[in-house]
Amino acid sequence: MLNRSEVKIEETWNLTDLFKNEQQFEAAMQEVAEEATSIEANFKGKITNSAVAVDVLTLYKNLSEKLVPIGNYSQLSLSVDQTNDTAQMRAAKVGQLYSKISAQLSFITSELLQLDEETLTETKNKALHLSHYIDQLIRKKPYQLHPEVEKALAAFGATFEAPYELYNTTKLVDMKFDNFEVNGKSYPLSYNSFEGDWELESDTDIRRAAFTAFSNKLRDYQHTTAKTYDTHLKIEKTESDLRGFDSVFDSLLFDQQVDRELYNRQIDLITSELAPIMRKYAKLLQKSHGLEKMTFADLKIPLDPTYEPKVSIEESRQYMKDGLSIMGKDYQTMLDRAFDERWIDFAQNIGKSTGAFCSSPYGYHPYVLISWTSRMNEVFVLAHELGHAGHFYLANAEQNIFNARPSLYFIEAPSTMNEMLMANHLLSNSNDARFKRWVISTIIARTYYHNFVTHLLEAAYQRKVYEIIDDGGSVNASILNELKREVLVDFWGDAVEMTEGAELTWMRQPHYYMGLYPYTYSAGLTIATEVSQRILKEGEIAVQDWINVLKAGGTKTPVELAQMAGVDVTTDQPLRNTIQFIGSLVDQLEELTAQLEK
Ligand SMILES: [Zn+2]
Repeated sequence: MLNRSEVKIEETWNLTDLFKNEQQFEAAMQEVAEEATSIEANFKGKITNSAVAVDVLTLYKNLSEKLVPIGNYSQLSLSVDQTNDTAQMRAAKVGQLYSKISAQLSFITSELLQLDEETLTETKNKALHLSHYIDQLIRKKPYQLHPEVEKALAAFGATFEAPYELYNTTKLVDMKFDNFEVNGKSYPLSYNSFEGDWELESDTDIRRAAFTAFSNKLRDYQHTTAKTYDTHLKIEKTESDLRGFDSVFDSLLFDQQVDRELYNRQIDLITSELAPIMRKYAKLLQKSHGLEKMTFADLKIPLDPTYEPKVSIEESRQYMKDGLSIMGKDYQTMLDRAFDERWIDFAQNIGKSTGAFCSSPYGYHPYVLISWTSRMNEVFVLAHELGHAGHFYLANAEQNIFNARPSLYFIEAPSTMNEMLMANHLLSNSNDARFKRWVISTIIARTYYHNFVTHLLEAAYQRKVYEIIDDGGSVNASILNELKREVLVDFWGDAVEMTEGAELTWMRQPHYYMGLYPYTYSAGLTIATEVSQRILKEGEIAVQDWINVLKAGGTKTPVELAQMAGVDVTTDQPLRNTIQFIGSLVDQLEELTAQLEK
């Protein structure tokens, strides 16, 4: 594995689009600090009428825009190399600055919410582009604390983020994996190589040995990680109690604009109705690989490992252009820019964040992080991340900074949508049974597995954890291991043996530090599955609806956004349809496999 300094520049993203150099970055830090101080000096205690409210909100909006590149520059440069001292210190400094500014400016929300309804309506009428933002503030009113308390909480902002940073430090900086040995041969191991390669390795001895070595290292850090996580949960619970929510679930769902019915349905229905389908899929994997038993360490293997084509970074570009061509000309232009202007960080190096993500700084272009291993399934990962990019490319252009981001419930819809579009494109352009089986198995093994199984099992586990916390309890490593194992066994039944180490899977997911995030993956993909079926049937008109949804950004609730695309998520029908669709894909895999074996 290379050090960051050794990777090819053309495989890295271009952060100079945010700041040309360190001096520019430092100057921007200085500028926002001064602006915040001046807003506080000029407006604190003075927001008493609509004219002042509009003035202060306008300045606050401009300042928020200036903060965007600062936060992104520091976070993105850290994410490609967590071991980089400069990047670590820079991120810490920015965290402090953000906390300081939030504390200085917390009076804005407090004072606005002390205005009477008439004055707030007047403010909205004077500045129509701010009305959505003000409505969102009013929603928060019942949970708003005394201004001095709000200020104190905001001042602790960076401190409250500490568990997430500790988690990453343990995982990406301290945890060092030794090589593992199979039949006298030694193999290198890292977090990235385990999740990107060894978990998918078709040699069963190597794959299972890698799983054991990986789990053993995780186990060394289980108590630190559990304590870190417990601290995070306590912060969330304390804030929920302070603000007067009935439960930590309500507190976490509040920002998502989702009720508990939508949340619980996603977990309950998938657990009961998808499990039999996925067990069938596990049996198919077992049979086609001739495995005596199917274990947790075998679930990620491809159905047809000798088939998977290799794809270079350059080739991936054409796949994106062709696979997503249905999205129209503007979208194609964005894809070209993504490659031409180095929006994507493809390199593999020590200290780089695991998995893939997209960050879309308001007022700038999106950035995508991925560690390219040349497996064809990464075409789907990249399509997914470019789905986030496309979403905010459009939403950021259409909406102001306060209105651009929709609820977390909807966030994974545009990304998983691109995976579906890519699959539809690949399927419609081939009659080769083996290729078709590869595409369908990739949608199952990646798109649906990831969003409907991996994240579902996280969500089910997470719900159990929060139930404990809500009752005033605490968690430690043995409780978390037990909960995780229970969820896995419930789902897989006797179709999959729970290998020793499977219970430690809770240690692998950073999403636990982001509230009720895991369940939103299946929620987003439910919408995406329904809309992609609509696009297959109705074509252009459905695409146009979808683009309008993307442009709407955060101006609508997730239920309304889905509605705009023709999907009613207030009923369980879309979810039932999606589970049925997954069932039909597994049936097709069985048929194609039988056909190919003949
Ligand atoms: Zn995503």
